[in-house]
Amino acid sequence: MKITKIETKVVEIPVKSPYVFSHGVLKAFANVLIWVYTDEGVVGIGEASFVPGGGVSEETPESTKPMIDKYLSPVVIGEDPFDIERIHKKMDECVPRNLIAKAGIDLALWDIMGKALDLPAYKLLGGMYESRIRATYTLSIDTAEKMAEQALFRKNQGYLTLVIKIGRDPEHDLERLKLVRDAVGWDINIRLDANEAYTPDQAIRIIRKMEKYEPEFVEEPVKRWDLNGMARVAASVDIPISSDESNTTLESVNKILCKEAADIINIKISKNGGIYRSKKIAALAESAGIPYLVGGANTYEVGRQACRHFAVSTANAQLASEGCAPASQSKIDDVTKKIITYDDVGSLNGYVTVTSGAGLGVEPDDEKIKKYSVT
Ligand SMILES: [Mg+2]
Repeated sequence: MKITKIETKVVEIPVKSPYVFSHGVLKAFANVLIWVYTDEGVVGIGEASFVPGGGVSEETPESTKPMIDKYLSPVVIGEDPFDIERIHKKMDECVPRNLIAKAGIDLALWDIMGKALDLPAYKLLGGMYESRIRATYTLSIDTAEKMAEQALFRKNQGYLTLVIKIGRDPEHDLERLKLVRDAVGWDINIRLDANEAYTPDQAIRIIRKMEKYEPEFVEEPVKRWDLNGMARVAASVDIPISSDESNTTLESVNKILCKEAADIINIKISKNGGIYRSKKIAALAESAGIPYLVGGANTYEVGRQACRHFAVSTANAQLASEGCAPASQSKIDDVTKKIITYDDVGSLNGYVTVTSGAGLGVEPDDEKIKKYSVT
């Protein structure tokens, strides 16, 4: 089988209400959808997903579409979609990093391989390890009272794990955690995500005060490049520290592990370069005895299905996941005919599972893609 053509489209879908986190305010999802065609008529779909204008990634939809069209496609066309190690190496020789663009192509390759064999992608990724993944919901930064109200609403909807975004006004973060804990009680798991907002000293001071509310972990407390600062925080507090923005490549995870800068690795198949590279990162973390979770980017259902295939087939990826759950940033629409909703989380008692079907198991909705496509 040979890859014959690659097409890309930027698709932008607004969120119902602005979503606030320490990097900025999100008003819409804007992702690149990728179609990879083959000479046997099998077509795979992938997604490169972003946090646009949020200061999270060097890549944007506007940079990624030409990156794929002009640079990556010429080295991928003509290859056999099953030769995924070779294709990743060819993409790396063409351009360093640009992991989100490469992830978009990677996802489409898994969709092709599964469709060609009439198997769901997870069967090619190690098979079914655990069919259900616990879902998380992430609370946008607001007043402590409004976040507590939202937390209770999501608990009543069936969520067992909640993430509190913090870091925009650090002096109020302890109050946010206190009111959310008071609202949901002690049977709900609470995580915190500072998205790089604190200094190491500030993080140590605030996190120590948070310990009595027993959060599961605090994610990315300090700047992504400050692994020494992150290691100092991790050594100084009792709550585990999770790495998100600071890990992208295999070597970045290796550095984090060597410095003992994090206790948990948040793998996002977009920023980590796709399912294939994420499997390598998972193996590296496993070798260090470090658990990982499948985090969420601002991902449509194509990317969410990819997260589910990765999570159900990977033994240590069983920590609750936002990437596998419906997006916490409630958007007005999606790009596929079937999506997993907040109600589905409730009906599975706080869990989600992979939607059945060959490949990634998604059916693109051509009308919606056309409606929300931007040039
Ligand atoms: Mg995070």
